[in-house]
Amino acid sequence: MTVLTVADHRRGELRDVSLELLTAGRELADAAGTELHAAVVSGNVESFADQLNREGVDEVHTVEYGEEFNHDVYAQAATALAEDLDAEFLVVPNSVNGLDYAPAVASRLGRPYVSDAVGLDYSEGTLEVTREMYGSKVETTVEVAEGPFVVSVRGAEWPAAEGVGDADVSPFDFAVDEDAVGSTVKGFEEVGGGDVDISDADFLVSIGRGIEEEENLALVEELVEVTGATLSSSRPIVDNGWLPKNRQVGQSGKQVTPDVYLAIGISGAVQHVAGMKGADTIIAVNTDPNAPIFDIADYGVVGDLFEVVPELIEEFGGSPPSV
Ligand code: FAD
Repeated sequence: MTVLTVADHRRGELRDVSLELLTAGRELADAAGTELHAAVVSGNVESFADQLNREGVDEVHTVEYGEEFNHDVYAQAATALAEDLDAEFLVVPNSVNGLDYAPAVASRLGRPYVSDAVGLDYSEGTLEVTREMYGSKVETTVEVAEGPFVVSVRGAEWPAAEGVGDADVSPFDFAVDEDAVGSTVKGFEEVGGGDVDISDADFLVSIGRGIEEEENLALVEELVEVTGATLSSSRPIVDNGWLPKNRQVGQSGKQVTPDVYLAIGISGAVQHVAGMKGADTIIAVNTDPNAPIFDIADYGVVGDLFEVVPELIEEFGGSPPSV
């Protein structure tokens, strides 16, 4: 019996959630008294395996095949790995990729599948999975009484595994059934503003409805410029068409884990917080002292952004535009 995690990567970069999976996987392995194995499929598997070799990982398996995610390849490889390793738990990211192949693997293995886990608790053969419902307004617990289990876990819910490990890294002895590979990734096409991936940013300046008008965005863009930050936003800004969708933080946007998240004129609705609560340091600027964002902020300024932001720009050596 083992715990097996399958990493996510895209365009040559291991995604943060891959290291978070290791923490979730280690917790399960400890609860079940078993080993944690990590796997990576496709891409530069040697480099990815090095990055996955963290404290608490017992073995890393690599599958070389192409560069990018492919449904058929991942479904085949994850199924074969889970069978070969007698994996009691198969843990994958609740990402576009994970959601794509995890149900197929669960079906092939005849196992139950629970998606979008934000908490996992295993005891005496029963797995309890915590999930959020109704736009993150309530938490529910799904009890799965009989394993083995397939679970996809939400990003930014577990801390990334740390420390350099001493796991064995070995190629998994497995050949892809070419006849069963029905699709190939030919390339990527960026959507508007797609050059920026806010989920990779270390410092996000995020703007909300408090900015009032599209023209006023120039003020925040200047702050972004002088601080070297990356611009993100709450949903109304995207709904208004003022920023592209890939800048949206939250439940229906992106999950972000920057070192610093500066929320300006954002109330802190649960659907927004779901996407940024994993930030190391949260700073909020809001006129309303009772805004929920202050409940999770490490530092807060109760003040008008049209006064606070120009002062910040000057503090960083810039000159605020007139808005
Ligand atoms: P508001 O809630 O209107 O808050 C604006 C804030 O600005 C207020 O707190 C106000 O006090 C402050 N303010 C006003 N003027 C100033 C000023 N001059 N200076 C400083 N502060 C000022 N939202 C997301 O963000 N991301 C999502 O992914 C997302 N997904 C959703 C999914 C579903 C299914 C649903 C139902 C909703 C979703 N939402 C999402 C919307 C969410 O519920 C909120 O409506 C949204 O987050 C509010 O955005 P906001 O904080 O910018 O605006």
